Amino acid sequence: MAKVKLGINSTCTHVGEVKDTQFKGAVSPIYLSTSYAYEDVEVKRYPRYFNTPNQEMLSKKIAALEHVEAAMIFGSGMAAISTSLLAFLRKGDHVVLQQTLYGGTVNFVSKEFEKYGIEYTYTNGWKTEDFERELKPNTKVIYVETPSNPLLTITDLKKISKLAKAKGILSMIDNTFASPINQNPHDFGIDIIIHSATKYLGGHSDILAGAVAASEAHIQQIWNAAICYGGSLSDHTVWMLERSIKTLALRVKRQNKNALKMARYLNKHKDVARVYYPGLRSHPDHKIAKAQMRGFGGMMSFELEEGSNASQFLNSLQLIKPSMSLAGVESTMLCPAATSHALLTQEARDEQGINDGLIRFSVGIEETKDLARDIEQALHVVKQLQFA
Ligand SMILES: *Cc1c(COP(=O)(O)O)cnc(C)c1O
Repeated sequence: MAKVKLGINSTCTHVGEVKDTQFKGAVSPIYLSTSYAYEDVEVKRYPRYFNTPNQEMLSKKIAALEHVEAAMIFGSGMAAISTSLLAFLRKGDHVVLQQTLYGGTVNFVSKEFEKYGIEYTYTNGWKTEDFERELKPNTKVIYVETPSNPLLTITDLKKISKLAKAKGILSMIDNTFASPINQNPHDFGIDIIIHSATKYLGGHSDILAGAVAASEAHIQQIWNAAICYGGSLSDHTVWMLERSIKTLALRVKRQNKNALKMARYLNKHKDVARVYYPGLRSHPDHKIAKAQMRGFGGMMSFELEEGSNASQFLNSLQLIKPSMSLAGVESTMLCPAATSHALLTQEARDEQGINDGLIRFSVGIEETKDLARDIEQALHVVKQLQFA
C-alpha cells in the first residue's frame, strides 16, 4: 500500500496501527513495557524517549493527518506547547505571540520566559500587519492561534508563513480549535503545528494529551528538548487516543454541520445580540476562513441581549452542559469572563471584546433540534426571571 493516498476516514482508522502479529487481533495491542532489549536493535526504546510501539505508531497517524513528515505525542497540550517553544528559544531570543491565546499559554509565557531571558511581545490584533509591526532583529518565533478563543478570529496562515519565511523566523500554530480535519497549516507553510489532543483528537472529554506535528528536522529538535522535560504520555492513554482518532473525521464533520446550523439559528434569534462564527458570511474574517479551512469547526460564541443574565442562562440549560473544556461529543457552554478568561483584568477583557454576557459554545454531535429546544427553554427562564 506504499504510495496510495488514503481517504480521511481510512487515514483516521488505519494509519499507524500497531499490527498484532501474535494473535492477529483487529486493534492495536498496548505495549506497556518500560524496558526493551538494547542489543542488536536499531532504536533504544523507552517511554520518555517517545518511541514505545504505541507512541511511535500513533505519531504516524497524526503526521499523516497534518500532512507533515513526523509528529510526537505528549502528556498534555501544555507539555506540547511549552516543550516546542523552549526547544527553539534561547536566552536573548524574542517571540511574537498573538494577543488572543489559550490562557495556559499566556500563563506559561508570562511566568516562565523571563527566567530564561526570553523576550516576548503580544500583538495588538490578529492581522498580518499586527505581527509584522512587532518583529525585532532577534525574533525567532511567530506564534498564532486560529480560530482563536473565544471570539473565533481568523489569522491568515499563508500571509503569516510568508512573513516568517522572508525573515527566517519559525512559525508555530496552536491548531486545537480547527483540528486537522478542518485545517492543515503546513499546507500554507506553517512550520510547527500543535494540538491539545484533550480536545478534538480525544473528543470524549476523558483524555488529557497533546501533540506536535512538523518536519523530521524540527521534530528532532523538539525531541531533544522533550526527553529532558519528560512530558511523555502513558501508553494506556496513547491507545485511547488512537481509538478516539478513528472517529475524528466523523465527529468533526458532524460538529461542523451542527455548529453552522446553530450559528444561523442563534444569529436570527431575537434574544441574541451577536454571534461569532467564522462560517457566517457576516463574520469579518469569513473569506480568510473559507480560503484556509475545509470546515468552520464546532466552536462559536454569542452574546445574549443586554440585561440577560448569562449565568442564569447557563444554569437553566438541561441538555447542554455548562462546563469547562471543549470539543467533546457532548455540547458544552461556558462564560469566558467568569471562567477561561477570569484571570485577565476587566480592562484586558474589554480590549479583546470579551464582555460579561459572552457565552462560548462547543457544539457536540447531538441533534440540533434538541440543542435549539434546550436553548429556547433556558432563554425563556432567563426572561421570566428578568421581568419577575
Ligand atoms: C485546552 C487547550 C490547550 C491546553 O491543552 P491541555 O491539554 O489542557 O494541556 C492549549 N490550547 C488550546 C487552544 C486549548 O483549548
